[in-house]
Amino acid sequence: MLTNKTAVVTGSTSGIGLAIARGLASHGADIVLNGMGDAGEIEKLRVNIELEFDVKARYINMDLSTADGARALIAQATQEMGQIDILVNNAGIQHTDSTENFPVERWDAIIALNLSAVFHATAAALPAMQKKGWGRIINIASAHGLVASEQKSAYVAAKHGVVGLTKVVALENAGNGVTCNAICPGWVRTPLVEAQIKALAASSEVDIETAAKNLLSEKQPSLQFVTPEQIAGAAIFICSDAAEQMTGSSLSLDGGWTAR
Ligand code: NAD
Repeated sequence: MLTNKTAVVTGSTSGIGLAIARGLASHGADIVLNGMGDAGEIEKLRVNIELEFDVKARYINMDLSTADGARALIAQATQEMGQIDILVNNAGIQHTDSTENFPVERWDAIIALNLSAVFHATAAALPAMQKKGWGRIINIASAHGLVASEQKSAYVAAKHGVVGLTKVVALENAGNGVTCNAICPGWVRTPLVEAQIKALAASSEVDIETAAKNLLSEKQPSLQFVTPEQIAGAAIFICSDAAEQMTGSSLSLDGGWTAR
């Protein structure tokens, strides 16, 4: 389905981004990986995608927390691959604290990566997609793009911002072949969430698996984690012909979290 298309997936050296990169590759897309981590491990991920799915995969090492970095990723990916058809804005970080105690440096870092990088990468990728008359921009927002939780001022503000930005880009491109949608996952057990499970285990003096169950029962009625592969399935759907008229949407995969 995605043969001869190129997908840039930000933050794809781990978790949801990696699953989306592999999912799109399994449908024939060439892939640009991006994200932090051990160079040797990332090279293994890259080579595995090429061998398993018979596509081209490149890794671009770029910190997206500055405007220059986010825009340079798109410029370099375009130069190396010739085109970008699918942009998945996925890179994200978390920090929890009360609003009054939230470190300014953490606020700035979360807004820069979770929100501003989405704007910069999208702005840089759009002109070529518009010219070609086909493009898919997929923003990995969160249930926290639709509802709030305590202790997450920067994350909730950034993810609500991403949902809003998704709608604006959708409206500006309606009818020209370029769609922009958000995916709003509930709890997915990735390194980002594992850190929160560990913190909960320590603060409530329970073991890790009890803390994981407690985390789910607080928010996610299904009491089951969403898997990274299920998020990848949603991204694949957004790239399919069936989703051609879907734009400006926020697709929830959250075990019922936001249905309450
Ligand atoms: P993760 O920590 O497993 O992956 C985050 C990725 O972002 C990694 O590849 C990391 O290297 C990369 N990254 C971090 N800082 C970066 C930077 N400055 N520049 C470029 N890349 C950087 O986390 P995840 O859970 O897979 O999260 C992926 C996205 O999904 C995030 O936007 C997150 O907010 C969102 N999300 C996650 C959950 C969940 O429960 N895990 C739920 C809803 C939304």
